[in-house]
Amino acid sequence: MSTKGEYDCIVIGAGVQGSFTAYQLAKQNRKTLLLEQFVLPHTRGSSHGQTRIIRKAYEQDFYVHMMEECYELWTQLEREAGVKLYRQTGLLVMGPEKSQSYQTVKNTLQRNKVPMVVLTRDNFSQHIPHVNLVEGDGAVVDINAGVLYADRVLKTVQGQFQKLGGIIRDQEKVMDIKPGPVVTVSTSAGVYRAKSVVITAGPWTNRLLAHAGLQLPLQVVKINVCYWKEKVPGSYDVKRRFPCFILTEGEESKEHIYGLPSNEYPGLVKICLHTGSETDPDQRDRQTDRSDIDILQRYVARCLPGLSPEPAVVESCMYTLTPDHHFVLDCHPTYSNIVIGAGFSGHGFKFGPIIGKLLCELSLGQVPSYDLSPFRVQRFQAKTKSSL
Ligand SMILES: Cc1cc2nc3c(=O)[nH]c(=O)nc-3n(C[C@H](O)[C@H](O)[C@H](O)COP(=O)(O)OP(=O)(O)OC[C@H]3O[C@@H](n4cnc5c(N)ncnc54)[C@H](O)[C@@H]3O)c2cc1C
Repeated sequence: MSTKGEYDCIVIGAGVQGSFTAYQLAKQNRKTLLLEQFVLPHTRGSSHGQTRIIRKAYEQDFYVHMMEECYELWTQLEREAGVKLYRQTGLLVMGPEKSQSYQTVKNTLQRNKVPMVVLTRDNFSQHIPHVNLVEGDGAVVDINAGVLYADRVLKTVQGQFQKLGGIIRDQEKVMDIKPGPVVTVSTSAGVYRAKSVVITAGPWTNRLLAHAGLQLPLQVVKINVCYWKEKVPGSYDVKRRFPCFILTEGEESKEHIYGLPSNEYPGLVKICLHTGSETDPDQRDRQTDRSDIDILQRYVARCLPGLSPEPAVVESCMYTLTPDHHFVLDCHPTYSNIVIGAGFSGHGFKFGPIIGKLLCELSLGQVPSYDLSPFRVQRFQAKTKSSL
């Protein structure tokens, strides 16, 4: 096949991370091509659906620091595009008062002076009706947290990228990558060349990295995205200021359970378990494990008495997990002009604008704006060596 184009940068994968990276590159006047294997928009990766939680409530300071700037970048994009992408709802964090995870989140919020409110057992139900706070659990609210309108985000950022002269080619699967000072990328439709390539292929990352002789310890899991029906319509509604929530751990599971107020589907509240069962991304729906739904049913019955304890709608999505659940934001260890953004471990959406900025910096050979040591590829190799 003949070469179809020469670019400064090719970004592979038009999920939230690839779209923001391409947009940042175009903002820096780089001739950029964004390649996507499916017709856009699609529901086969990790970025689809109407809503995601945005928050600063984290255990680690480095995520809180990144979110400081990230909130500003979300507002900038809203202004630039004239579109509403974020709605403030607050995020209620609940968990056993004495547990390490709950205490760490609470302390990190306090240490970083994030606007927050600690709820006591006495005033809890006055602020948060229709939720039973478990005996021994504490509760804090991250006030500026809220909901991002995910599908709208993708449409907006891809549109802004195109307005800046960026080119999107969807339904064009990358079949091969040939590293070198100029990287050659072959797709189902042609061959392209670029000074740098960014791989943001979500659950398919290792398939692409195989062409560059690298495999990361990534695990792809299917998430059952469950929607639960309100017994009295409106009781958990975003308009009535019901917040997003996270249960750091509980009787039902050591894993987070999280929820968003009814919003995208009136009368239905989205509640999921923050884990799932391993899957092949090309055969996602052959994974039919529902043990997460059993856990959620028990939790809903016990703590959310205003919801029917059977999911009314179940959709599917995928997480790409790293062993420590931190992202991979780095250059390929051998080919510095191949940049990797992967392993977002089910919490990467809110960081989209800042991840786009960081991956753009890496692909331009600039010093990244944040310390990327928690996100290096090398941490996995170091672990392997020390366990030998
Ligand atoms: C149910 C669920 C709830 C979540 N909730 C939250 C939340 O509340 N807050 C939060 O911050 N995050 C949340 N996340 C996580 C967040 O959505 C993900 O971290 C993020 O969407 C990952 O984006 P991505 O761009 O890396 O991957 P993807 O969206 O999967 O994008 C990768 C793209 O690459 C394309 N691709 C792959 N291979 C090729 C190829 N060979 N050629 C061309 N294209 C290719 C794929 O088709 C895909 O479009 C949630 C995720 C799920 C599943």
